[in-house]
Amino acid sequence: MPLVSQPEVVEPVRYSEEWVHKTLSDWHARYPKLTRLVSIGRSHEGRPLWALAIGKNIRRRDSRPTILINGAHHGVETFSIDLALDAAEVLLLRSGEQPATTLRPDPTLDRKVRRWLKELVVWCVPVVNPDGVWTSLHGFQRSGRKNGRDNNDNGKPDRGDGVDLNRNYPFRWGFLADKGSSPLPDSAYFRGPAAGSEPETQAMMRLADSEHFAASLSFHTGNVTVLAPYTIDNVTSPSPNEAWLVAEELTAGLPRHPQGKDITVRRNIYPVDGTDQDYLRGQFGTLALLVEGARRDPTQADARRQVTLAMRPIWTRLFDRYLDGPSVFGVVRDGKGHAVSAEVRIVEQTLNEQERWLTRCRDGHYDRFLPGPGQYTVQVSVPGQAPLVRQITVGKERVRVDFTVEGVVSSGRCPSEPPG
Ligand SMILES: [Zn+2]
Repeated sequence: MPLVSQPEVVEPVRYSEEWVHKTLSDWHARYPKLTRLVSIGRSHEGRPLWALAIGKNIRRRDSRPTILINGAHHGVETFSIDLALDAAEVLLLRSGEQPATTLRPDPTLDRKVRRWLKELVVWCVPVVNPDGVWTSLHGFQRSGRKNGRDNNDNGKPDRGDGVDLNRNYPFRWGFLADKGSSPLPDSAYFRGPAAGSEPETQAMMRLADSEHFAASLSFHTGNVTVLAPYTIDNVTSPSPNEAWLVAEELTAGLPRHPQGKDITVRRNIYPVDGTDQDYLRGQFGTLALLVEGARRDPTQADARRQVTLAMRPIWTRLFDRYLDGPSVFGVVRDGKGHAVSAEVRIVEQTLNEQERWLTRCRDGHYDRFLPGPGQYTVQVSVPGQAPLVRQITVGKERVRVDFTVEGVVSSGRCPSEPPG
């Protein structure tokens, strides 16, 4: 009798595109009401960029504040994928729906998770650079740090190919000439042929344009530190710089990193330009931080878990800091109740780089972390009208301030719709 062999189930290699997709789609299947699985774009070599959006009864044009968590802008930093996925995993497994049997009870964290799921939408993009990760997993014909751009157009991957995606964002792209990034295609820090030239960068920019993230964490490895914008030397941060102050709150009193280093806030480690945190900050006012989560990528499961747990307070504290305040949020609408794309400014904060931070187009929503309790003036401006101002006194809380702009000023159409 012929033996019929069972097809062998092969688990995809950790960090491979199959593994990432399987991880996210398994969660989506298990938690359909809490998640949307969206391809936000494709890499140079055609690999999808997957995003999992998470929130209670999540909808396509969700009106809640959004927070971005991403990993692997640099394909060699594969452990940054675990750090980004940790937030998604905790939010889902501790949601109270389909609880995992292996989970140790943690009433405090469970309570927090239920609040975050209710109040926020968290966008998790674990791999921004799938071509680089592929290279890292399959040998080094080219730098796994960079994406898959075929710099010399010879139709195959070789040593000099690729763009450093975290030097490609358009805010002050190439500002420091050859000090912050490189104009040379062969360099590991090649900034690309133009600002925002890469499909991966563009996918992240479209997502940000659609969502206007209140906050963002970009996970990297190679060091242990939190970088607060602006990262670029000789570019002046808003004053007061609430992004720096919040970053210090997120790291205050944390135990030493398991790899033996205190977790501190810095502006940069060496000169850089074209980074995602500076772009998100400059373009939208997002409280965008870069988190270097490990000096070297841990390979053993135990070590991975230890480092993941050590870095977890950074995102849990960030979510709480936004919701607990001091912070302000609201919507701007016109006389007919339509969402308005308006500039929202905290008058007490000086902006030094001609930043114009607008409401989210689809619903007129805005979010601002405030540097501390106190009195603030929220000013809303639309072209051709006198600005509206509102004085607020904020303690340790999140204050809602809505505005109605007289007449009808909404164009009714948004340049970027939420993906999916
Ligand atoms: Zn990196």
